[in-house]
Amino acid sequence: MPRYDFRCRSCGDTFELSRPMARSGDPAACPQGHTDTVKLLSTVAVTGAAGAAAAPRPAAGGGGGGCCGGGCCG
Ligand SMILES: [Zn+2]
Repeated sequence: MPRYDFRCRSCGDTFELSRPMARSGDPAACPQGHTDTVKLLSTVAVTGAAGAAAAPRPAAGGGGGGCCGGGCCG
């Protein structure tokens, strides 16, 4: 379920909610109960894609194990 960022115009707080995309435009109350909130642009989709593409992988050219093996770190 996608998460949406909101900002409360009453107290200035920002918060995020998980909700179905079909309800992404629904009003959201802030944690303090204010309903004067605005939805912020979210990068949730981009974050997900980038996270998958940037999966951890061994450093190329490394000797394997430890840090660098070349004495650069002491
Ligand atoms: Zn508020």
